[in-house]
Amino acid sequence: MLPCQFETDPTAQNATEMTIQVAEVPVKRLFDASRRIDVIESMSDFYAECDRLIAEQPGRCVNKGECCRFGEYGHRLYVTALEVCYYLARTSTCPQVTEDACPQAYDQKCYVRDSRPLGCRIFFCDPAAQQWQGPLTEELLARLRDLHRELDVPYFYVDWMTVVRALGEYTTDARCSSK
Ligand code: SF4
Repeated sequence: MLPCQFETDPTAQNATEMTIQVAEVPVKRLFDASRRIDVIESMSDFYAECDRLIAEQPGRCVNKGECCRFGEYGHRLYVTALEVCYYLARTSTCPQVTEDACPQAYDQKCYVRDSRPLGCRIFFCDPAAQQWQGPLTEELLARLRDLHRELDVPYFYVDWMTVVRALGEYTTDARCSSK
């Protein structure tokens, strides 16, 4: 397995990933929070600051999409509740998951680049980026935890694939039940 900054340091305060089942993802609450202007604006500002800090670091991404194929690549992506809310606010589709790969990655591209989670922004396979990714990830995750408290959105930090599976199933069910 390749080293990956998504695997959190188990000694870090509150940054340890949680294991939950697809059915336990609070999809309705996430959709509700995704409609709040304060949530959208706060996350937009947060990502702008992340992108600014990341741009100051060495390393580059050629966006081939290989690291979005988690099973093949050998790593996981973890996301917080607010990141999912922002993704939902900016995303018109929640595709069904058919393999251990992000359903928004195809044609060697990310199709939700503006709303992609923090881990996607900060991960570079470029060896020049290996020194700074871990410390900056922990710093930005701490800011995100504070943001959950400020916005009163319940915090979680879970596998992205569990979340996108839950979103895909929920939107399919919603479409079916509205027929
Ligand atoms: S959101 Fe975009 S960058 Fe992140 S895993 Fe999915 S396709 Fe890749």
